[in-house]
Amino acid sequence: MSAYPNVRFLISANRREQFVTDIGAEVAVAGRSNAGKSTAINALTQRKSLAKTSKRPGATRLINFFELEPDRRLVDLPGYGYAAVTGEMRRHWGQLVEAYFQSRRSLRGVIVVMDIRHPMTPHDQDMLGLARGRDVPVHVLLTKADKLGRGAVQQTTAAVRRELGAAVGVQPFSAHSGLGVIEARGRLDAWLAGRQRAEKRVPEKETPAGSAEPAGED
Ligand code: GDP
Repeated sequence: MSAYPNVRFLISANRREQFVTDIGAEVAVAGRSNAGKSTAINALTQRKSLAKTSKRPGATRLINFFELEPDRRLVDLPGYGYAAVTGEMRRHWGQLVEAYFQSRRSLRGVIVVMDIRHPMTPHDQDMLGLARGRDVPVHVLLTKADKLGRGAVQQTTAAVRRELGAAVGVQPFSAHSGLGVIEARGRLDAWLAGRQRAEKRVPEKETPAGSAEPAGED
């Protein structure tokens, strides 16, 4: 299991022109402000300093690109809080995040971070809608699961699964207790590695008729 030892911050983008060159593979992480997104990114990458980078004043409104490995990126999408659901910030958020979803060819999947105590907010629905518009797979982390008892964790996870259907991965997650961290990291690794395998699968000669093309995992 990769812990991405060479992870590094690349850029905070305020405009589409500042996005990192669109090659390789990247996974976006989205979530309403305070849902636990930075903490989840830290847990997934096992690096405490990354959250600080994306929590710099102003940077929470930008798209933060991190390099996990050459041409393999984690993209921290800005989230807005309840107070900013209307007005200029929401407009800017919408334009920037929509520009991201519309333009990124290297996008392989979206991790949507939701507080397990308040899942499926309108903000979460917006993010899920944008991901659906791009037809990329979605994996939901129900964060702060340590704040609920086991029964409530199972109930909420099942309810969100029912609501989103089988195509969307849904799992409880807690950076504090470690619950679900390995599972979530596995998802991230698989999305990032899936394309790598596909890129290497360019046939050198014609595939014999009738031979079965191995189905890609993703
Ligand atoms: P962000 O705004 O979505 O990036 O949220 P943060 O990662 O900054 O987390 C918001 C608050 O929730 C902070 O006070 C975190 O310490 C807390 N938090 C994040 N993840 C967890 C978790 O797994 N368990 C608990 N109990 N608190 C968490």
